[in-house]
Amino acid sequence: MASTSTSTSISASSSQHKVIQPFESETLRVNEIFVSLQGETSRVGLPTVFVRLTGCPLRCSYCDTEYAFHYGKNLSVSSVLSRISDYKVQNVTVTGGEPLAQKKCLLLLRLLCDAGYLVSLETSGSQDVSNVDDRVTKIIDIKTPASGESQKNNWNNLNHLTSQDELKFVLCNEADYQWAVKIMHNYNLDKLCPILFSPVYNKLDPTLLAEWVLRDRLGVRVQIQLHKLLWGEEPGR
Ligand code: SF4
Repeated sequence: MASTSTSTSISASSSQHKVIQPFESETLRVNEIFVSLQGETSRVGLPTVFVRLTGCPLRCSYCDTEYAFHYGKNLSVSSVLSRISDYKVQNVTVTGGEPLAQKKCLLLLRLLCDAGYLVSLETSGSQDVSNVDDRVTKIIDIKTPASGESQKNNWNNLNHLTSQDELKFVLCNEADYQWAVKIMHNYNLDKLCPILFSPVYNKLDPTLLAEWVLRDRLGVRVQIQLHKLLWGEEPGR
């Protein structure tokens, strides 16, 4: 975690960010805030500040952030903004857990955009994304059968995608892969936004997934979580 700040307004030392009004009474439960390289999506490799919010209503079989289900500190939105500003990094990712399970997440996203950050949101796909600020890049999971949570997919979210958003399938096995291909074709997902196929770490061989995608000539991006190649499963990375 970054050092605590009690500042009630943000005067980012980096001049590209605007002054933000205080939101001391608005609070979020925050699991961790840290800087790392973005490990996934089209922004892979870019230095990014991650804000991990506490809590998630899902329990995916492969979850790698169970530590975020309960532990966290209540921080004012202005304090969260202040900590982000300290890192002097342009890209910010709000993640979880399931960040949209906290209503004040929408406020945080809007204020981050107002301040000039390039903002992305990682969400499980179970929560309504219709009120997320248009400037935010939404990375929305579509939960597969082997996740154990596919019945929680909120398919209405497909109506709120823009071409800057990305849909992500986290795949456990070949049955998941075949399911994802079928869903992709049924909903014409590749016409909506970029699609990510991600193998579950230490469960599905990424080489095998790459071969299936090439065999089937799929217009998807196969991605391997860069942060896990660099640092394993160390939290805060
Ligand atoms: S949605 Fe994400 S945080 Fe929640 S259980 Fe699934 S993998 Fe874990």
